[in-house]
Amino acid sequence: MDVNHASIMLVRTMVWIVGMLGIAVPQIGAIIPVSTQAPGGLEREEIPQFIFVTFDDAVNPDIYEMIGRISHHRHADGSPVGFTFFVSTDWTDFYLVHRLHAAGHEIATHTITHTTGRGTDFLTWVREIEGCREVLHRYADVPLSEIRGFRAPYLAYNGATYEALHALGFDYSTSVSEPLGMFSVSPAEMIWPYTLHDGLQQMQWTGTGPTVSLPNLMEIPMWLLYEADGTRHPREMDPTGTKESLVALFKENFMQRYNGNRVPLGLWLHAVPWLGSPSAPVQANVDAMNEFLEWALQKPNVWVVGMSTLVDWMRNPLPASEASASGMLSPKVYEPLPATAAMSQSFPKGTVRFINNRPLHYPEPHNAFKRLQVKQAEISGVDVTLEITNIWSPSRPTGFQGRFASVTTVATPLSSGRWTGFRAISKSLAYGAISAWIHWWKVGINCGITIGCLLPFLPAAH
Ligand SMILES: [Zn+2]
Repeated sequence: MDVNHASIMLVRTMVWIVGMLGIAVPQIGAIIPVSTQAPGGLEREEIPQFIFVTFDDAVNPDIYEMIGRISHHRHADGSPVGFTFFVSTDWTDFYLVHRLHAAGHEIATHTITHTTGRGTDFLTWVREIEGCREVLHRYADVPLSEIRGFRAPYLAYNGATYEALHALGFDYSTSVSEPLGMFSVSPAEMIWPYTLHDGLQQMQWTGTGPTVSLPNLMEIPMWLLYEADGTRHPREMDPTGTKESLVALFKENFMQRYNGNRVPLGLWLHAVPWLGSPSAPVQANVDAMNEFLEWALQKPNVWVVGMSTLVDWMRNPLPASEASASGMLSPKVYEPLPATAAMSQSFPKGTVRFINNRPLHYPEPHNAFKRLQVKQAEISGVDVTLEITNIWSPSRPTGFQGRFASVTTVATPLSSGRWTGFRAISKSLAYGAISAWIHWWKVGINCGITIGCLLPFLPAAH
């Protein structure tokens, strides 16, 4: 076993220990098995019909402009529609991500570099996913608590992807296509999202999922589209056709669900090329989306919202009328920071436009965690001494304080090259600290429970 392998095993072991400590704590939400039935035992008319429109990859000015041409639709309560953006941060304009978030859209992760695949190891997933979340938070001012989802680049994943997501406290992943045949019976009876308490359940086309229990993580299937004659639409993402055929395809799949088990309708897209650019728009697709959304939103209990809204509703499946009245289904909007608050900095790899903090480095997996990098590590005998500093202090954006309060020190960057020797081990310990901190409340509660249980058995004082 080489050192890199050993460090991976070390982190896995720490995550496992933390996970074990967490077992006695109630799950964040209920366990939700694979089912074609919506949770809550509601009548069909009381199940909200969700429509997800998702866009993967970097956000740039062209994409932002094209999104503006399809996002003006509103719900019956006056709230705007919300899409979900799975952002890979390379080449992304963070100020525009901030504006999308302020307009009610959900921001989710799609790694930093978009270079991961089925062979990616656990530590790399951690750096790519948590690094992406950190950068979106720091440069686009999206609250960490609202960056809750993940989609794997190329839909390519492995067990370590999910173990990383669970350890990092993500709520959902959505990377697995769901055709008819295994669990899903018909477009009117496809499976609802489920928790990974028994690992990944669906047919695994583009990866091999975890077999371990990850009860707080939910998989939202990427439901495929079916034509009116029952044949599968040839594309899983970015459906093709004329404006008329696309509107017909969307309406057909919507009605199947709306009159069926009300499983959400997903339209899985890349803004480029599906919407085109302002100078060369794909007008048929823009028009098809507008016509479909306008039509669907006239029906009762239809919600075009970010995917985490579904997670919240499934954990608390109120009747649609009640959920709607509570406001839990409506995208939240706020006044974005003005453009003058955005700054930009050029790097060989591209220009970054961002808010809040001036980046010192182009955001890469090896420096997104700069504040957790190890300044000094010494091994004497079996003792490892770490000194880690927070390089982002004191100019941290709102909401950052305290997240990694247990890590007190800070930073000269380590080489971005291959990790060797004790540096690999010490850096792994830093990542272990992240996992441990994310679960500190579980550990704390369990320590309390454990001590409480042991007290009666301790010998009395003399
Ligand atoms: Zn992608």
